[in-house]
Amino acid sequence: MAADPQEVMRNLERLGVRISEPKSPRFSGSDQLRLLQEIEVACADGSPAEFDRSLHESGWETLRPAKLDVFQINVGRLCNMGCKHCHVGAGPDRVDQVMSKATIDAALAALDKTEAGTVDITGGAPELNPHFEYLIERSRARGKHVIFRCNFTCLVLPAFAELPGFLAENRVEVVGSLPHYRKRNTDTVRGEGVFEKSVDAMRLLNEVGYGTGDPQRVLTLMSNPAGAFLAASQPALEREWKASLEKSEGVTFDRLIVLNNMPIGRFLKWLERSGNGNTYLAKLTGAFNPATIAGLMCRNTVSVDYAGRVYDCDFNQMLELPALYEDGTEITVENLDLERFTKRRIQTALHCFGCTAGQGSSCGGALAE
Ligand code: SF4
Ligand code: SF4
Repeated sequence: MAADPQEVMRNLERLGVRISEPKSPRFSGSDQLRLLQEIEVACADGSPAEFDRSLHESGWETLRPAKLDVFQINVGRLCNMGCKHCHVGAGPDRVDQVMSKATIDAALAALDKTEAGTVDITGGAPELNPHFEYLIERSRARGKHVIFRCNFTCLVLPAFAELPGFLAENRVEVVGSLPHYRKRNTDTVRGEGVFEKSVDAMRLLNEVGYGTGDPQRVLTLMSNPAGAFLAASQPALEREWKASLEKSEGVTFDRLIVLNNMPIGRFLKWLERSGNGNTYLAKLTGAFNPATIAGLMCRNTVSVDYAGRVYDCDFNQMLELPALYEDGTEITVENLDLERFTKRRIQTALHCFGCTAGQGSSCGGALAE
């Protein structure tokens, strides 16, 4: 169940977050899948690319889950920004797609049925959910490691002045997305002034002990390429980013994760509009790396949406491809049965090549050297 949009709006008013952006067109999961299928892409032997065939040829009969480690909760698609490459299709107008407290409680009850050690809170901008701190406190009370994925820019708003201290006190790992360590590149992707706000937020986090090597206060940066190309080598980029941000801005962080752009959401729209669809998918399929399969995020993660529906991963959530029990029943936080869940077959499609290309890609970064 989604939160009452009026409650969400009142909370935004309290936080001083203005909802002034124009509505962005919604792109349904079925439309995304249709568009993906229309992009003709062939394997090296000339046959049409099919993810399941590539799996079989790599010795995997089908994709099945391993042990569940990460319980990822997307608390809503509401975001203070509306980036043109957003795979979530998040934006300031998504007030009707925010998780209610009742659904958070149902998700926590489902979490209790599992052995997942990590609660990964994502969005949109999760801190705009009226029950964000409640979710962190209830997860920490269960002894879980908590990850908070943010875009940094809310952290500099006066209403969030206490948030860095709250996160530090609760030993929450902060994963902040930043397109680039150069101002020009970041502002081109996210808008004028975003780089400065992001660096200011990093500074606030550094002040409470984040990004200084303390394992209880981990600050991770996350970046995707700005166009239709694959992510570069993660270790090399991490060295470059660390040196540059410390030297030019005086801020530090602990690790960098780089992700391939998934051909879904607004990025898929952009691929279509710019005529880059075939080229990009050919790049992904051409770089298929069987060494990434064992570590695919869908094998150890579950993804829950704002309404309590369960997916194999965040990307399948955006494509509205629900996780299914073997009898075809859609899985929700209310009907989660771990034994049946573990036996399910993971839903795959062409977008999965985004996770297996090159060094691989997941919410935790690269999957192979
Ligand atoms: S990419 Fe991140 S910051 Fe940008 S709209 Fe999407 S969720 Fe918000
Ligand atoms: S998109 Fe990636 S994580 Fe999701 S099901 Fe496909 S391979 Fe797994």
